[in-house]
Amino acid sequence: MAEILVLVDHVDGAVRKPTLELLTLARRLGEPSAVLLGPGADAATEALGRYGAQKIYVVDAPEIDEYLVTPAVDALTQIAERTGPAAILLPSGPDGKEIAARVALRLGSGLITDAVDVTAGPDGPVTEQSAFAATHQVTAHVTRDVPVITVKPNAAAPEPAPTDPVVEKQDIAFGPASAGVRVLSRTPRERGDRPELTEADIVVSGGRGVNGAENFALVERVADALGGAVGASRAAVDAGWYPHSHQVGQTGTQVSPQLYLAAGISGAIQHRAGMQTSRTIVAVNKDPDAPIFELADHGVVGDLFAVLPQLVEEIERRRS
Ligand SMILES: Cc1cc2nc3c(=O)[nH]c(=O)nc-3n(C[C@H](O)[C@H](O)[C@H](O)COP(=O)(O)OP(=O)(O)OC[C@H]3O[C@@H](n4cnc5c(N)ncnc54)[C@H](O)[C@@H]3O)c2cc1C
Repeated sequence: MAEILVLVDHVDGAVRKPTLELLTLARRLGEPSAVLLGPGADAATEALGRYGAQKIYVVDAPEIDEYLVTPAVDALTQIAERTGPAAILLPSGPDGKEIAARVALRLGSGLITDAVDVTAGPDGPVTEQSAFAATHQVTAHVTRDVPVITVKPNAAAPEPAPTDPVVEKQDIAFGPASAGVRVLSRTPRERGDRPELTEADIVVSGGRGVNGAENFALVERVADALGGAVGASRAAVDAGWYPHSHQVGQTGTQVSPQLYLAAGISGAIQHRAGMQTSRTIVAVNKDPDAPIFELADHGVVGDLFAVLPQLVEEIERRRS
C-alpha cells in the first residue's frame, strides 16, 4: 500500500490533535508514516501508533529547533525523495503552509492548502476546500507528482487504529539556506484551561452585540459550559473587549469547529470567511434580518443577555 507522509505538529513529543486528524485522513489514502522533526520521539511514539502511524521518521537534529522553517523543508523534502510517498499531509497552520509550499516547489509537485476534507479518488487524493469567503466549495486533485496537501483542523474526527510503528532515524543534509534565520528565544504563549481556538470542537464567539468587555464573561460562561474556546468578531476586538488573538475571520483566525455559536454577530462576509466551514452554526441575534441567519443551521432571534444565561442553565441542568 502506498505510503502517506504526515508532518507531525508537536511540542517536545506532545502531539497536537490536528496531527491525529491527519493520520485518520491518511489511512483513507494509504499507509500513514509520521514525520517527526525535533526532540520527543519517545513521547510521541505511543500517540502516533495509536492513530495508525505504521512508521515514524525521526529527525532530531539541532537545526530543526535552532532555525526557522527551512530545516523542516530540507527534512521533509529529503524524506519524500527517499520514500516516494503517494501524498504528503501537513497541518494548515502558518508553518505548515509555508513548509508545504516550499516542499511542493522543490519536489515539482502540486499543492493544495486549507483542505477541509480529503478522500481517495481514482487518480489520488481528492480534496474539498472552501473558497471566496466560503461562498464556493472547491473539489480538487493534484495532477502532478506527489500531492502536497495542508488540512485545516477539525477536518476529521481522530479515530484510533493501533499499530506498533517502526521508528527510523533519518539523517538530513541541511542546505546553507537552512541557517538563514536563527531563533534566538522562545516565549510560551500564556493559555488558560480552554482549548486552542483553531483546535476546539466548539467555539463560542461574541460580537458588537455583547456590548462591552465585561459582558464577554457571559460568552466565556457558555464556552466553559460546552468545553469550548472563545472567539470574537473584529468589531469586538477593535473595541478592546477581547484580545486580538481571539478574532475570527478573514484577518483573524480561521476556525472549523463541529459547533460555532455566534452571539451578537451580524455575519459580515469577512467574519464568515473565518467560520463558514464550521460543521453546525448557531446564531443568537436580536435582528431577524441579520445576515448570519442566512448561513446558520439554527438561529435564535432574541437578546443574547436573555438567551445565553438560559442556555448555560439548560446545559448545566442536563449535565447534572
Ligand atoms: C479588510 C477587512 C477585514 C476584516 N476582517 C474581519 C475579521 O477577520 N473578522 C471579523 O469579524 N470582521 C472583520 N472585518 C469587519 C467586518 O466587516 C464587520 O465590521 C464585523 O465583522 C462586524 O462585527 P459584528 O458582527 O460583531 O458587529 P455588527 O456588524 O455591528 O453586528 C452586531 C450584531 O449584534 C446584534 N446585536 C446587538 N445587540 C444584541 C443583543 N443584545 N442580542 C443579540 N444580538 C444583538 C445586532 O443585531 C448586529 O447584527 C473586516 C473588515 C474589513 C474591511
